[in-house]
Amino acid sequence: MSIRFDVVIIGAGPAGSSAAYYLACAGMKVLLLDKATFPRDKTCGDGLVPRALPILAEMGILNTLKSQLLGWQLDQLEVTAPSGRTVRFTIPSLPHAPNHAVVIPRLILDNLLLQQAIAVGANFRGGVHIRGIQVNTDGVTISGDENYHATLAIVATGANTALLSSLGLNPPKPNIVAARAYFEGIDALPPHFQFRFDGVVLPGYGWVFPLSASSANIGAGFIRTGKREHHQSAQTVFNSFLQSPKLKAILGNARQVGTLKSFPIRTDFASAPTFAERILLVGEAAGLVNPLTGDGIDFALESGKIAAEHVIHMLRLGDVSRSQLQAYDTILRQRYQNLFRFSERVSRMTLNRRALDWLVPLAATRPKLSETLVNILLGAQPAPERVSFLRIVKGVAARL
Ligand SMILES: Cc1cc2nc3c(=O)[nH]c(=O)nc-3n(C[C@H](O)[C@H](O)[C@H](O)COP(=O)(O)OP(=O)(O)OC[C@H]3O[C@@H](n4cnc5c(N)ncnc54)[C@H](O)[C@@H]3O)c2cc1C
Repeated sequence: MSIRFDVVIIGAGPAGSSAAYYLACAGMKVLLLDKATFPRDKTCGDGLVPRALPILAEMGILNTLKSQLLGWQLDQLEVTAPSGRTVRFTIPSLPHAPNHAVVIPRLILDNLLLQQAIAVGANFRGGVHIRGIQVNTDGVTISGDENYHATLAIVATGANTALLSSLGLNPPKPNIVAARAYFEGIDALPPHFQFRFDGVVLPGYGWVFPLSASSANIGAGFIRTGKREHHQSAQTVFNSFLQSPKLKAILGNARQVGTLKSFPIRTDFASAPTFAERILLVGEAAGLVNPLTGDGIDFALESGKIAAEHVIHMLRLGDVSRSQLQAYDTILRQRYQNLFRFSERVSRMTLNRRALDWLVPLAATRPKLSETLVNILLGAQPAPERVSFLRIVKGVAARL
């Protein structure tokens, strides 16, 4: 007879491993399943914004990164407009997180997170592709290579929507696609994060995230809006980004290591389902990737912890009813809804050539403007509920 778990989590990315860690710490019987065997790679920019770091510290991962010299720490960010004009700023002091970001390959990070969840008591099985979840009167049956039984399930399957569709949740297809590759031997690599709008398809952006003094994760992504130029592949967009004159100058004789990989991104949290009967969704499975900046590791870690805390509360109460699941949705909405709506609005209004060529030089002379935006995006300042982005820009510009 198979073992029955309190919770089975499907997907061992940052969201699944964070949920497993906090559930196991509370003494819950947890099984974490993934179709991949670990360590596994995940196509990503590998950038951890400051709001991702407090949970990594809580899980004991930041100490490992520091003691084993893994991960590259950066405290400056540079934005380049389509015109080539740039603005650079230092990550401001944040009340809830360190004022720096870290870049670390997902091959390493996700395995550290998984091992930490296992170390506190979570069970893990890799190489198990889950095709369906059946809800019974007393729990859930998860079907993969065999059947797994639990009181509740957490779905942490990232941008892959197949399992969600099989549950009838039907999230929209991911509307962003991005490609990245690793480069080594970059002699003139600037020591800061670069977000580049020169040489990319808009709305979208390119990035250069240093992994050491001479190596970087370089990528480009764009939002599919239905325009003809958006029918090309992420690889094509990436290759033309590499040909943009300023990036070419930075790369010099650098060489690409490994293959160019692309992957979709889901940013639709503001309208996405977050639960079904006996099932909670976390991370990108709930559309939790910022629609403006593309960061999702932070929200994956945070929502994994939020879901774990809520599941512990439900199981201790002995109440797994719909109203308890609705309460989970309310917690997520209170925390993220304004930020996601705001980021969607800013993305729609600013990710075009005219706005960026106006805003980037403006931000260079109006540090309060970039600081306000960064504070909102990093969670240090609440996102305004109704005020339009244009009014914020005008307000800041008028005050300075
Ligand atoms: C090109 C690109 C660049 C990005 N850059 C950044 C960045 O720099 N910083 C940042 O914060 N975010 C970035 N993101 C977003 C970030 O990668 C995601 O938000 C993050 O990985 C989401 O974590 P997750 O745990 O929800 O899902 P994932 O990390 O995607 O993990 C999902 C897991 O579920 C498993 N799985 C899926 N389906 C099944 C199934 N049916 N059965 C079993 N297992 C299954 C997968 O194997 C995988 O291990 C980027 C995304 C892309 C595509």
